[in-house]
Amino acid sequence: MGKTVKKFETEVQQLLDLVIHSLYSNKEIFLRELISNASDAIDKVKFESHSNMELLEGNADWKIKIHPDKEAGTLTISDNGIGMSMDEVADNIGTIAKSGTKNFMAALKEQNLAENPELIGQFGVGFYASFMVADRVTLVTRKAGGKEFGCRWESAGDGSYTIEECEKETRGTDITLHLKEEMTEFLDEWRIRSIVKKYSDYVQYPIVMDVTRSEPVKDAEGNVIEGGGTIEKTTEETLNSMKAIWTRSKSEITEEEYEEFYKHISHDYDKPLATIHYSAEGVSEFKSIVYIPAHKPFDLFLRDHKKGVHLYVKRVYITDNCEALLPDYLRFIKGVVDSSDLPLNVSREILQEDIQIKRIQKSLVGKILSTLAEMKEKDFDKYLKFYGEFGPVLKEGIHFDHANLDKIKDLLLFESSKTESGKYVSLKEYVERMPEGQKEIYFITGMSRASVENSPYMEVFRKKDYEVLFMVDPVDEWVVQALHDYDGKHLKAIDRGDLELETEEEKKAQEAKKEEKQKEFGGVITFIQETLKDRVKEVRFSSRLTESACCLVAEEMGLNANMEKILKSMNQ
Ligand code: ADP
Ligand code: MG
Repeated sequence: MGKTVKKFETEVQQLLDLVIHSLYSNKEIFLRELISNASDAIDKVKFESHSNMELLEGNADWKIKIHPDKEAGTLTISDNGIGMSMDEVADNIGTIAKSGTKNFMAALKEQNLAENPELIGQFGVGFYASFMVADRVTLVTRKAGGKEFGCRWESAGDGSYTIEECEKETRGTDITLHLKEEMTEFLDEWRIRSIVKKYSDYVQYPIVMDVTRSEPVKDAEGNVIEGGGTIEKTTEETLNSMKAIWTRSKSEITEEEYEEFYKHISHDYDKPLATIHYSAEGVSEFKSIVYIPAHKPFDLFLRDHKKGVHLYVKRVYITDNCEALLPDYLRFIKGVVDSSDLPLNVSREILQEDIQIKRIQKSLVGKILSTLAEMKEKDFDKYLKFYGEFGPVLKEGIHFDHANLDKIKDLLLFESSKTESGKYVSLKEYVERMPEGQKEIYFITGMSRASVENSPYMEVFRKKDYEVLFMVDPVDEWVVQALHDYDGKHLKAIDRGDLELETEEEKKAQEAKKEEKQKEFGGVITFIQETLKDRVKEVRFSSRLTESACCLVAEEMGLNANMEKILKSMNQ
């Protein structure tokens, strides 16, 4: 097949234009992106070779090689990973189907990145980051297995790229950056070393570079010959330490290292809110580092949200989105789990059913929930930040995680009639400050604090000085259905069914009053009932109200007004 010229997707070109013309100063991150792709590619071939040895082609000397060529002004990053077929190149490079770039495009729309170029490098712009430093990029790749030709892709980032078949002897990918004139600093050995150390030290494959040094000439025994002059000697040096961070002891790891690792695995540009480095021994043996992000990803509630933590078995990569490791309501957690119990050839399909995975999950969920409980106790402001971002997701656990129901209940926070706006009460605090005589936990659901606060249903509670929880998060309506009770106390919606607020004496007095009023205003009630007969089920006197003239009340088992609004907005 000859050379073809193809056009980039519009969105890709948009992104490229931004990358190329950005004034973003931290351009060095291009190397981090290319190394991470190379490392991913090696992970993949390594994994697939467990079931198909032929893919190795006798070459399992995993390596990412950086080759600066000062004369040509090029920097080449080579790997012996899985490589790409022609179709894969066209699919992966040239569309924005990939996660990192997708995040970027979403942020681009949301945050107006065009005007804030400093944000660019913080996103995983992935492969396209090459164009920050290069005015032409050549990618030569051959898929593992060696049955097809290699493929050569080239672009100057100006709307189109070329793609053609080519010869490539070794498996893997070479990416050559034709550096812009003002970017030749990236050919400097020390510059490269420091970038690798900074961003890619934990990559578990050697990142190597040929280094030439002049050495004094030595004799056969290795002694320097006086006055013998110098010779140039080239050796391949490994630039990274390769030590998987989760295998190290906590005391040896710096905050920066934890952060850097987080950014590597999460594609997040921000620091994590909390880091949990946790090892388990006994029934299930694993090491893990999991993170609670500081903010929610844009697609948290979309179906194709990429969830799950990275799974390794004895430092061998298995998958980077093992969904089975955490329940859905903790899908915002990022991290890595390295198990000692799973077999290496575990297939991704059976993970969901695997008993070891279930054990890890149980242990990990316990650890995460207890970390959150501790954060709530000791660093409430931080917990509030967490709750603001992920509270609605966590609440899903009320429905789905019966084993941990009590723990999750204790993590819930609500505004109430006794908190200021933006302040919260937990169920525990609510119960603790319940006045004598109050038997149930009262709540009202609604669209906003303002709407529930001024609702006529509140009147009698204000009078009684009973606290009412304001459940104004759209998911609350659904959450309360599974919440039922806390600490033996029933949760009661104040806009449904009958309220049992009075003592026996008060009740009697009210009955008497009602009868009296019935005589006086019975005609009015009948009139209203007649007039609205197609719209309401019943019109009756109420002891709920102290100031307003009337209010609408749902039946105990019926839909309340808020639920009706929600359903209506969903076109139900
Ligand atoms: P991401 O890494 O987030 O998927 P990138 O833009 O960095 O996004 O890469 C896009 C895709 O191109 C990768 O998912 C991968 O399929 C492919 N790719 C990039 N570099 C390599 C490589 N060195 N070897 C094999 N495939 C690669
Ligand atoms: Mg990438």
